[in-house]
Amino acid sequence: MKAIVFLLFASSALAQQDFSKVEIQTQKLADTVYMLTGSGGNIGLSVGDDGIVMIDDQFAPLTPKIQEAIAKLSTKPVRFLVNTHWHFDHTGGNENFGKAGATIVGHQNVRKRLAAGGTIEFFGMKVNPEPRVGLPTITYERGTDFAVNGDELRVIHVANAHTDGDSIVYFSKSNVIHMGDTFFNKLYPFIDASSGGSAAGVIATADRVLKMAADDTRIIPGHGPLGTKADLKAFRDMLATVSGRIQKQVKAGKSLAQVIESKPTKEFDEVWGKGFLNPQRFTEMLYKGMQKKG
Ligand SMILES: [Zn+2]
Repeated sequence: MKAIVFLLFASSALAQQDFSKVEIQTQKLADTVYMLTGSGGNIGLSVGDDGIVMIDDQFAPLTPKIQEAIAKLSTKPVRFLVNTHWHFDHTGGNENFGKAGATIVGHQNVRKRLAAGGTIEFFGMKVNPEPRVGLPTITYERGTDFAVNGDELRVIHVANAHTDGDSIVYFSKSNVIHMGDTFFNKLYPFIDASSGGSAAGVIATADRVLKMAADDTRIIPGHGPLGTKADLKAFRDMLATVSGRIQKQVKAGKSLAQVIESKPTKEFDEVWGKGFLNPQRFTEMLYKGMQKKG
């Protein structure tokens, strides 16, 4: 199992998580498409005669529960596992699913970062290198497609968004899009500048998906409940407004304390500020991300 060293994040809900209490919930989104929620990134599934294509895999201790949930849908094996990005709350099960025979697929930077291990600076978190069996063996630069289960899954790399290795997955016949962590629904998003992410890239990704999506497209966010195009638009507008306000102050040479004092998130806190990042931490994250870019 991949060991994760928690430093500054030690008091967080994540570090204290008792996985034995987590239940995996299954939501049917289309004939062959399901969303699984438990703890960590939301999972997408294409299920049918061709076997299962799974998008993300949460944490290693949850693998047996995830396998149990999948077994209720199909007796077919997980043939392919797509990693939307390298973060451990989306790839924690890689080693287990790799050992069980899944072929892991991801952007080339996902393989690079998983193989090397690394730090997530904002949380002071160090991640150990992934064992070989848990690494993507099929990688791509721009994207790849799956023709399975009567569907066409388009895996599309989006540059420098939540990280430098993000992919979104468009289940084109089923009218479902899995956005990985380029979309947090109704909670302030984490953007990992230390892995090449940027607010501008997340906004550009949202704009791209808003063009692809119809009003009734079901959008799986990395975190938060299943979303709609309207939810994604609200997310995009919130992020553009808040990051625009912070950017202006960074350019004017304001300190972090001054920016926090100006409450750049205020009208959004009610809806978005009760999740993973509180308003102050979200502001700090955007501020530091913009400083990093200079
Ligand atoms: Zn992530």
